[in-house]
Amino acid sequence: MTRAELEEMFLEFGEPRYRADQVFRAIHQRRLRAFDEMTDLPKKLRQKLAAEADIERLTVTSRYVSEDGTRRYLMRTVDQRPVETVFIPSEGRDTICFSSQAGCPLKCDFCLTAKLGLLRSLTAGEIVEQILIVLNDVYGVAAETPHGTNLVGMGAGEPFLNFDELIKAVRIMGEPDGLHIVPNRITISTAGIVPRIRDLALLPDRPHLAISLTAANDELRDRLMPINRKYPINELMSAAKEFEASLRRGERFTFEYVMLGGVNDSDRDADRLAELLDRFQLSRVKVNLIPHNGADQLDYAASTPERVAAFKQRLGSKGVDAYVRTPRGRDIFAACGQLAAKAI
Ligand code: SF4
Repeated sequence: MTRAELEEMFLEFGEPRYRADQVFRAIHQRRLRAFDEMTDLPKKLRQKLAAEADIERLTVTSRYVSEDGTRRYLMRTVDQRPVETVFIPSEGRDTICFSSQAGCPLKCDFCLTAKLGLLRSLTAGEIVEQILIVLNDVYGVAAETPHGTNLVGMGAGEPFLNFDELIKAVRIMGEPDGLHIVPNRITISTAGIVPRIRDLALLPDRPHLAISLTAANDELRDRLMPINRKYPINELMSAAKEFEASLRRGERFTFEYVMLGGVNDSDRDADRLAELLDRFQLSRVKVNLIPHNGADQLDYAASTPERVAAFKQRLGSKGVDAYVRTPRGRDIFAACGQLAAKAI
């Protein structure tokens, strides 16, 4: 619930408006997980809330901790849908990767989550709750959220096919007396849902955008990411161009490129990618190269580290800034495109 929805609920209960503030802070700032723990509320009200409302909609069913400190959580919704969330520690800048859907309707050929199909989209509450659960696990209940925590909407699902709930979650998480994770610290990754890229560009105070590209020509992208048949590269680039016009001072947006050995990692592919990005101000875009996880269940191998380095260098020689994303948590199946591996 947004703050306004919560206020409305308390007014219907015949309670003063400040009760909504108290409960909002208890859920999002103190990260309490039961009404019973909200001892600043009158006992009668706590009982009424426990009878008529619900703040715990996700249950953690498994938790894995990688050698590199990455943590992966498998959760279940009340209707038994799987939700996966990953915590990635990093010097002074921890990141939580959340899911926007249970499963995913897009059929990216290199992704395990795709094999689940779409089970359902998550509610704003289920998106926010993933963050609350992870923060409590990592830092302890009621501990202040470390200032540098970043969120990325890159877990299971296509966030832009759940746009309204996603943006509602972003607004709730940004509240200063709640989680206070402002949109500027959130990045949403899309496989290329063109109309929603345009919608995002129009939003005031919006999260950052990452576009998962992975192929620089339609023939290959049609095969790797079938959403390309609906929104081909040219359309995607023109929406990205519009998005570029909405960037704030110093802001960049990202293209993600999953590196698949022998499939999309040749010098020719790098040249095509650089050509494609030539339409942007190169200081405004960057490319994240993500070596594929090489999961056994898929017909793809990761590009070799040498190939990734050569690809990056080739892009660099054409003025394109590229960064190699070190895969994290591979041993616990937490890397990109690996979520749902266990379910499968
Ligand atoms: S890569 Fe992302 S968008 Fe594509 S199928 Fe997997 S979860 Fe869905």
